[in-house]
Amino acid sequence: MIRGRVFNVQRFSLHDGPGIRTTVFLKGCPLQCTWCHNPEGIAAEPEVLVVESRCIRCGACRTGCPLGIAAEGGWIPDGREACTACGACADVCPTGARAVVGREVTVDELLAEVMRDRVFFDTDGGVTFSGGEPLLQLRFLEAMLEACRAAGLHTAIDTSGLAPLKHLLRVAVLADLLLFDVKLMDDTRHRMHTGVSNTQILANLDAVARLHPNIWLRVPIVPGVNDDETNIRATAALAAGIPSVRRVHLLPYHRLGADKRRRLGNGTEGVSLTPPTRSRMDELAAEFTAAGVTTTIGG
Ligand code: SF4
Ligand code: SF4
Repeated sequence: MIRGRVFNVQRFSLHDGPGIRTTVFLKGCPLQCTWCHNPEGIAAEPEVLVVESRCIRCGACRTGCPLGIAAEGGWIPDGREACTACGACADVCPTGARAVVGREVTVDELLAEVMRDRVFFDTDGGVTFSGGEPLLQLRFLEAMLEACRAAGLHTAIDTSGLAPLKHLLRVAVLADLLLFDVKLMDDTRHRMHTGVSNTQILANLDAVARLHPNIWLRVPIVPGVNDDETNIRATAALAAGIPSVRRVHLLPYHRLGADKRRRLGNGTEGVSLTPPTRSRMDELAAEFTAAGVTTTIGG
C-alpha cells in the first residue's frame, strides 16, 4: 500500500490555484531557500515544533520523553538530533507548546479527507498538492492525482521544478494545472539563496511547457534577494516567452517562515529579510503586465 507523508492539509485555500481549494502539503524538499515560507516541509521525516511562548515550564515533556531530550521550551543541548518524533512529549504537554509535524497517510485516507471539502469546490476549485516538493513522493503523488481524477476533482501541483524530467512529465499529464516556482534567473544567485542550481529547473520548465497547456508561474518577491530590475525583467521575459504560461503570481515574502524555522530549532535563516511594501509589489506587477503577462499579486 502506497503511503505518503504530509505536514498540513489546508482547507478553504484561495491562494493555490483557481476557486476554493484544499491544499495538501507533502513533506521533503531538495531546496533550502533562505526565505522559505514552509520550513516544516523541508525535512522528509516528521519533526517536533516547539512554540516557546506557550511553554509554562511545567517539565512534563522532560519526564514524558523516553529519551530524556525534551526540555522546557525546547531541547536539552544537542538533544534535537536524537529526537524520533514519537510525539510522547506533545501528548503530555498541557499547553500545546509541542507538536509533531508530519504524518503518514494512505491514498484512501487522504482522498477521504479531501472529499469532505468537495461541496466547497464548486466548478473551478479542487485539490492542490504542494510542499516541500511534492515530486519527492512521486508514487504517492501519482496515485493521489489518479484517485482525484477518478473522483472528478480538479487538481494542481505546486512544484519547485527540481526533479528528474521524466518524473515531472509523469505527474504533469495527470494534473489539470501546474504551479511552477521561478525564484531567480541567475544561476550563481540561485545557488546562493536556494542551495541548488536553477539549470535543471529552467530546462524542466521549458520541456513541460511543451506538453502541458496550463501553467502558472509563481515568483516569491524577496527584497534584496530577487526584486532587482535585472531579475524581474528576465523573469517577466521568461513568462512572456512561454505560451502555456497563462499567468504569473507574485508572492510577497512574509516573516512567518523565519518564525517557524526558529520553532523547529532550524537556525535563523530569513530573520534579516523584510517583506516588500504594497507600492513595490504594484511596481513589479506593472513590469510583468508591461511584458504582456497576466499578473496577480498574491496567491
Ligand atoms: S518527540 Fe519523542 S523523542 Fe522527540 S522530544 Fe518528544 S518525546 Fe522525546
Ligand atoms: S510540557 Fe509543554 S508547557 Fe510543559 S515544559 Fe514541556 S513544552 Fe513547556
